[in-house]
Parts: sequence; structure tokens; C-alpha cells
Amino acid sequence: MEDNPCIICVAITGSVPRKEDNPNIPISVDEQIESTHEAFEAGASIVHCHVRNEDQSVSSDPILFAKLQEGIEKHCSGMVIQFSTGGRSGKGKERGGMLPISPDMASLTVGSNNFPTRVYENSPELIDWLAKEMVKYGVQPEIEAFDLSHIFQAAKMYNEGKLKGNPYIQFVMGVKNAMPVDRDVFEYYIKTVNRILPSANWCAAGIGKHQKTINQWCIELGGHTRTGMEDNIRLDKENLAPSNASLVNLTSEICGMYGRSVATWEQTREILNIPLKN
Ligand code: MG
Repeated sequence: MEDNPCIICVAITGSVPRKEDNPNIPISVDEQIESTHEAFEAGASIVHCHVRNEDQSVSSDPILFAKLQEGIEKHCSGMVIQFSTGGRSGKGKERGGMLPISPDMASLTVGSNNFPTRVYENSPELIDWLAKEMVKYGVQPEIEAFDLSHIFQAAKMYNEGKLKGNPYIQFVMGVKNAMPVDRDVFEYYIKTVNRILPSANWCAAGIGKHQKTINQWCIELGGHTRTGMEDNIRLDKENLAPSNASLVNLTSEICGMYGRSVATWEQTREILNIPLKN
């Protein structure tokens, strides 16, 4: 059987968890670089990044993003760097203020839905602007699908030329008040991506205790997957995750159980068609 390496993305920090929740969560840029380095050595080949202020509050400061990018490029040479343009880190166009520093990738949500305590608002105008900035600065989007309609919207944007590059679609499941972790829907997502965006690669992220379940489903069904402390701060029921690398190790073990290798950064760049920038 031909090998189908599994890309592991590590979402190191996010906007929500704080040191009070898990003291091991990386907050400062230095902590983030160190945590990314450990996760990279454990097999993660994409890092999904948010930045925080010193008091742990969320930030969308391009200067912090630039420092993080520089450190990761230095210490994790070849790793794919993905910045978040998610709605918890800033308001309106602030969310895309770091795109001019040209990360390899950025997350892009192409529709709205509910989050645990608020509306996750993504207006058509803002989505089109973020897409335009990504095309302008050569940033490949990772589409965050919180709902089936987001997959259709992404396909429409690719067909209209508003989005460029290899489509990479991430299904997000288990966010409270949004799409739950549901196997039938998961399989239908895959079927729909294959039908309306056949050139796309897909991956998925599960939130909280569902992280491992989603990792298993992705690996079993031939996709790629995401782990990390942004989505889940626990190693298991009893223990907090000691590091992002510990979660990457868990995911890598699941790959082994299903006979899949973990994609190297070179393989990841080849699969997603993201050349190394110089
Ligand atoms: Mg995020």
C-alpha cells in the first residue's frame, strides 16, 4: 500500500487558555518559540499561531507576529508557519494586519456561526478583504469550516478566483454552540469536499476532550489533523498536557496505530504546494 503521510498541525496557544488553566501554555513569544521547537521535533510540520500580550490578553499586533515568525524560522527551519486571522484576536481588519509579513499560511473562516458565548462574525466584506490580502501577499489560506455552508462558500471563492493555491480545508468540531463531534457529518464533510473541491486536501480539529477522537477519525480516513493546547489543555482525564509536544506525540502514536507515517516538513510543503520562502 502506498504511504499517505499525515500532516500534524500544532496550535500552540490560541486566544482562550491561560496559565491559570494550564501553566504550561506558551504565552510570550520566547515561550511560543520553545514550545514550537519541541512540537516540531516531535513531528508537527505546521504551527498555527496566535499572539498574546504580556498580561495574556489577546493581541493581533503585527510586531509580535513578526518576532514569532523570525524565531520559528530560525529554530524550526522548514516548518510551515500559519497565522490566525480568527475573530477572537482582534476587530475587523485588525485580524489581517499581519498578512503583509507573508506567513506561509493563514487561517480563514468564510462564514459566521455561534461560539460558546458570542457570535463568531465574519461578514462577506471582511472575508473578501482577508482573501484579497492573502492573494496579494502570497499567503495560502487554511479554510476553517465550522459548518457545511463554509465548505460551499470556500468552493465558490476558489471557483471565482478570490482564493488561490491548493485548497486546504479544516473541519472544526466540538466548539460549544457550533457543530458537534458527529461521525456521520464528518464523513459527509469529506464526501462534500471530494465532490465540490476535488483538488482540496482536508484536515480537522476537535475541541477539548474531543481532540483525540477527531485525530483518530482523520488518521483512519486518510486526512491530516491538528492538535495542540489551543484546542485542548489536557493529556487525558487526569492530567494537564505538560507541553504541546506531548499532544503531538499522542497524535503520532495514533498514526502508527493506523499504519500512517507522520509527514515531514518537506512532505507537508509538497502536499500543500507551499514552497520554502527565501
Ligand atoms: Mg486559532
